[in-house]
Amino acid sequence: LFAAPCAFFFGAQHVDQLPPPDRPEIAFAGRSNVGKSSLINALTGRTRLARSSSEPGRTKQLNFFDLGGRVTLVDMPGYGFAKAAKAVKEDWQQTMFAYLRGRPTLARVLLLLDARIELKASDREVMELLDRAAVVFQVVLTKCDAVKPGALAAKNREVSAEIGKHPAAYPVIVETSNETGLGVDILRASIARVIAE
Ligand code: GDP
Repeated sequence: LFAAPCAFFFGAQHVDQLPPPDRPEIAFAGRSNVGKSSLINALTGRTRLARSSSEPGRTKQLNFFDLGGRVTLVDMPGYGFAKAAKAVKEDWQQTMFAYLRGRPTLARVLLLLDARIELKASDREVMELLDRAAVVFQVVLTKCDAVKPGALAAKNREVSAEIGKHPAAYPVIVETSNETGLGVDILRASIARVIAE
């Protein structure tokens, strides 16, 4: 699946302007700076496919990437900006909820969590959003190269305890690193399996 070419084809700022739901979709969500662009690039073998949220332009929209005509990868806007106004956050939540709830082809959300950082209220809020939208989500730990094995084990326990409270959570946590390539193959296989279902 991932040997196929991957290309950006659509950016949506509102849920009333999404591309037709004609293929299975896998969406990537996470706090800004979690390593989402880097992971999408690592998965697809591209270097500048997904742009970092630290770059202006493609940040506050849903970005759609076609992978070999078989699956659409969706880069969701990073959340958790500390400085964002309450109204902006609420607007983001409403847009995301509308997308999550209303997208019949959305097969799974990969929820990225930085292995170095404790779970934040915004992460829990997104998990609750996914529960309410009844969209299966799988936690992907990023930047695992940057934590010691003991800390990584503790992080896994923290996340396991949290997802135990969320009915929409898929129980397997994937550890990844864009530095070492850890977990990239597992994630590719996991996505291929979801698509085959
Ligand atoms: P995004 O905002 O979620 O799209 O995050 P980016 O992909 O732009 O990455 C944010 C920052 O984290 C950048 O400075 C990356 O170099 C760094 N980063 C991304 N992936 C990894 C990783 O696997 N390990 C480490 N140590 N740093 C990473």
